Amino acid sequence: MDIDLARAWVRAIAVAVGQNKDHLTQLDSAIGDADHGTNLDRGFSAAADAVADLAADTVGVVFTKTGSTLISSIGGSAGPLYGGAFRAVGKALDVPVADQRTFAAALAAGLKSIRLLGAAAPGDKTMIDAYAPAVVAFEERSRQGDGFAGAASAAADAAEEGMRATTPLQARKGRASYLGARSVGHQDPGATSTALIFRALADTAAR
Ligand code: ADP
Ligand code: MG
Repeated sequence: MDIDLARAWVRAIAVAVGQNKDHLTQLDSAIGDADHGTNLDRGFSAAADAVADLAADTVGVVFTKTGSTLISSIGGSAGPLYGGAFRAVGKALDVPVADQRTFAAALAAGLKSIRLLGAAAPGDKTMIDAYAPAVVAFEERSRQGDGFAGAASAAADAAEEGMRATTPLQARKGRASYLGARSVGHQDPGATSTALIFRALADTAAR
């Protein structure tokens, strides 16, 4: 992962979130307050703009800037959660080019940040249900000798599987948890956006 790939990933997330804005908002209207798509669209387009002409000497700077932009431009829980995660990823990448192991550790640091801030566990029907399996898949495939693109593709597949697996779950964290058993049968919006983020990484790495 180098600085150009970092910028391209943030741009690809902004594009994917823009294309799926209505879908994310629809999911959030079923079990939340119908703002997830607009929240993320605003945040990631601001982040993509902010990093486009940022003078970066490390990969980390791109992600730290992405994180702080998300925090300042997104209302709701997703802003601090994703913002904190990207800042943690950035902090772990204080190098001009990150090798695959370092990047895997950075992804894990992002997940840890979400877990610390949101106190959700796997199975609580949150973005963690997509993020956690993606980290495991990225690490596993890297250990098996796959390159960055292969590991990113496995991570995206795992995130999408985790996303789909949120549908039968009852939410135990966030706004959806207020619905109790009525949250069952709906895919979690945050897990859905996390899957988009990992798919954007895979697509960017494959280019
Ligand atoms: P809000 O719920 O404040 O309107 P968003 O709609 O932008 O914020 O984001 C909702 C998503 O945030 C949920 O679908 C869920 O995945 C995620 N989320 C909410 N609370 C938590 C938490 N405590 N830990 C992890 N993720 C959470
Ligand atoms: Mg919401």
